[in-house]
Amino acid sequence: MEYKDLQEAAIETWKAFIRKKVAPVAARIDEQEEFPFDNIKEMGRLGLLGIPYPSEYGGADLDYRTYTKFIREIARVCAATAMTVVTHTTLSGNPVFTFGTNEQKERYLKPLLSGDKIGAFALTEPGSGSDISSIQTQAVETDGSYIINGSKLFITNANVADIFIVAAKTKPESGMLGISIFIVEKGTEGFSASRKKEKKLGMRGSDTGELIFDHVKVPAGNLVGKKNLGMEVLHQTLVSARLGMAAIAIGIAEGAQMHCLRYVKERKQFDKYLYHFQSVKNMLADMEMHISAAGLLLEKAAGMKDRGKNITKEASEAKLFASETATKTTKDAVQIFGAYGYSREFPLERFFRDAKITEIGDGTSEIQRTIIADEIVKKRNYSL
Ligand SMILES: Cc1cc2nc3c(=O)[nH]c(=O)nc-3n(C[C@H](O)[C@H](O)[C@H](O)COP(=O)(O)OP(=O)(O)OC[C@H]3O[C@@H](n4cnc5c(N)ncnc54)[C@H](O)[C@@H]3O)c2cc1C
Repeated sequence: MEYKDLQEAAIETWKAFIRKKVAPVAARIDEQEEFPFDNIKEMGRLGLLGIPYPSEYGGADLDYRTYTKFIREIARVCAATAMTVVTHTTLSGNPVFTFGTNEQKERYLKPLLSGDKIGAFALTEPGSGSDISSIQTQAVETDGSYIINGSKLFITNANVADIFIVAAKTKPESGMLGISIFIVEKGTEGFSASRKKEKKLGMRGSDTGELIFDHVKVPAGNLVGKKNLGMEVLHQTLVSARLGMAAIAIGIAEGAQMHCLRYVKERKQFDKYLYHFQSVKNMLADMEMHISAAGLLLEKAAGMKDRGKNITKEASEAKLFASETATKTTKDAVQIFGAYGYSREFPLERFFRDAKITEIGDGTSEIQRTIIADEIVKKRNYSL
């Protein structure tokens, strides 16, 4: 099949699926903090969990630009489902695809892309968030295996995943240069998830929990990439995931905006529809401008990734701008809806709550600004 035909078929499939299956349950999974197992499994069967991967592993043979459009469209109606998909497809699938051995791709990537297994990515710990070099989880090599001890916190899909990408120190004295990445399977002795399911502000249909590693024995064949060079795996994975988070953020903003555009033509005050008021127009215009600009940054970064370019700066720019667009747009959307925006009978307060994580996950906004500044200071030529 031609690329364009493949892409059109995927778009047709996801549009129908989102309309029929994701939109109708979005409010319920938020209210009941329920993981949408059936929908995730069905997305696997429909080929929607492997969009940016080759068909040889069960992927759809499409690019990151197409994948991020898909994520945007899910997030317009259900950001929690979009968050589950990005964690599964990018944070878990990408390290295995990019750094894994053929055996790892057969054993782990294929069942992830088909949806037979769910993936999680475990980096954050109780005492270590932005500062990756401070992780305390350790893996010690003994007789062809590694023994992992430690814990992870705030892990998306912790309670529902089967395959975990885990960061651990293999050379604790070397900071960033002593981290390695492992694949740990659910059910491995000593590995438990989880004593604690997080109760969150938003993204309540997305599972978040804790992982405990108590002398967990993992075969040496489950090391992803090179020993002690896990930082390279983490960097590449987090940069790619920022495109997914940017797409989630833009989708949330677009969803909130769509509700507003309908509402301002339905609601009257002082005998006029809301869209006649200049301050409402200002908010609508700002929403539009920010969403368009965020979309362009994301397209640029995703296009560069598809061409194999380094996107460290571009992914941070897209994620930072999109997440700030999401929080501003949803705040204004609640304002436009007034009391109805604040009511749980309407979806605006959910968009508002869901938006905030996009400024925190996959590196906070402060960390994105640091990355962008470091990249331009390091790489720009200053001759005038
Ligand atoms: C819903 C949810 C899902 C998540 N899913 C996952 C997951 O699947 N896997 C995973 O590994 N992690 C996950 N996380 C964790 C997430 O990646 C971290 O929360 C994030 O990296 C920030 O770390 P922290 O929360 O420990 O904040 P901290 O690092 O403690 O930062 C606290 C504040 O200090 C600021 N700060 C820290 N360092 C600097 C600096 N050098 N310069 C300027 N400001 C700084 C931060 O920007 C922030 O404002 C998730 C978190 C949430 C809430």
